[in-house]
Amino acid sequence: MTADLSFFDQVNQNFDRAAALTAHPPGLLEQIKSVNSVIHFTFPLIRDDGSLKVIHAWRAEHSHHKLPTKGGIRYAANVTEDEVMALAALMTYKCAIVNVPFGGAKGGVRISAHEYSVGELERITRRFTFELNKKNFIGPGLDVPAPDFATSGREMAWIADTYMTLNPHDIDALGCVTAKPVGQGGIRGRIEATGRGVYFGLREACTIVEDMRALGLNPGLEGKTVVVQGLGNVGYHAAKFMQENGGAVIVGIVEYEGSISKPSGIDIESLMAHRRETGSILGFPGARDLPNRDDGLEIECDILIPAALENAITMDNAPRIKAKIIAEAANGPISSDASQHLFQRGVLILPDAFINAGGVTVSYFEWLKNLQHVRFGRMEKRFVESSSRMLLSAIESSTNRIFSDLEIAEIAKGPGEIDLVNSGLEETMIEAYHEIREIKKTRGEDVDLRTASMITAIDKVAVSYRELGVFP
Ligand code: NAD
Repeated sequence: MTADLSFFDQVNQNFDRAAALTAHPPGLLEQIKSVNSVIHFTFPLIRDDGSLKVIHAWRAEHSHHKLPTKGGIRYAANVTEDEVMALAALMTYKCAIVNVPFGGAKGGVRISAHEYSVGELERITRRFTFELNKKNFIGPGLDVPAPDFATSGREMAWIADTYMTLNPHDIDALGCVTAKPVGQGGIRGRIEATGRGVYFGLREACTIVEDMRALGLNPGLEGKTVVVQGLGNVGYHAAKFMQENGGAVIVGIVEYEGSISKPSGIDIESLMAHRRETGSILGFPGARDLPNRDDGLEIECDILIPAALENAITMDNAPRIKAKIIAEAANGPISSDASQHLFQRGVLILPDAFINAGGVTVSYFEWLKNLQHVRFGRMEKRFVESSSRMLLSAIESSTNRIFSDLEIAEIAKGPGEIDLVNSGLEETMIEAYHEIREIKKTRGEDVDLRTASMITAIDKVAVSYRELGVFP
């Protein structure tokens, strides 16, 4: 049973499946697959009650074929070195798939974040950054963390502040971490970027008539039924955009505390308000609480979006999954064997390394902004506005068509940072989807999108290594 394989073994199994379909020499494939550096360190934390706790932390840099390396930091009670290596490897492949010029990395701190006070979390985060700095595992040209499970802009601001304190002469120091709050060198649109990317990827996949026909579905997102697992940053935003922009109907939610279903549709904002008030998604008016936590994954629906943690779907529940499309918003939510089983049943799986790449894409934009020391749109916004107004007025005088103030405001709007970020993200997701779909088409029926995306990633990383002169 491949579900018994470790997470890293499963990522490598997917790699091997794809690698076998390439013509790269074994040594080069071995180099691409290997984790270039991994550190495990411990440090003491004096807790608020005066006791001492030893904290275990990891950072894996999977591939130095491009620098900096990039990847989130997760705070979780069960984080392991294997998991961090697996996630770092996924980051390498993800960056290659969406043409973001970074190697992959990932960090983990073994704590259950909700058991620590804000002050304790700040001390842990700053000390973690200090250790990374001491070991050359952080820096705008070396390794650039971001948030992941149980970390957010708050932790990123602490990391940036600690790094800048330790490197006062580094003019690019703000680029040492991404997903910072906007006032601390962050970029507009980063918080919701992964969820928005999931929406763009799904929307694109659902526009392709022949693929939808093969699934027995109509093209488009409008009216499609959706179940989301995990209403955190990624899951909440994915659900929100699917509902508000795509017109999809959210028929089920799976959270830590349980599952709910409501075939007529769950209003996500109302559910979030209910959860804030009661501390749970259960008991939401009009919805049914399901007997077991994971039952929601098995609800009849068109699209399932697992957006919590890895291995949500294994051979234990895969045969009962009814969704026709699964968008892997989380990293590694489907075990390798369950993925093969679902593929053979005709389920369209949009793999994690593609579908959740919106976060790293916008992180790349943030890093560029930090290095450029200028906000996107600042130089051209007014120029674009005035030249568009001149063009409109030339059209008015040559056609006698008079534009309303509203039309002028809409057409002649110079792009601000958020417009450029969202449009760059949209373009990235659309382009990447067609790239991996084309590879799948050329490789035939037996190749799923995961294998196709891995082939794309391997080919691109192989080109980098060859360009570096590492391989002939
Ligand atoms: P988060 O901490 O904001 O949210 C995770 C959510 O999952 C929480 O609401 C939590 O209560 C819920 N959850 C935990 N255990 C669960 C369980 N057993 N069943 C159902 N729900 C459960 O984390 P996030 O940033 O949204 O990340 C979620 C996943 O997406 C992770 O796999 C992460 O690696 C991946 N990811 C995140 C980003 C990003 O930009 N944040 C980018 C790419 C991938």
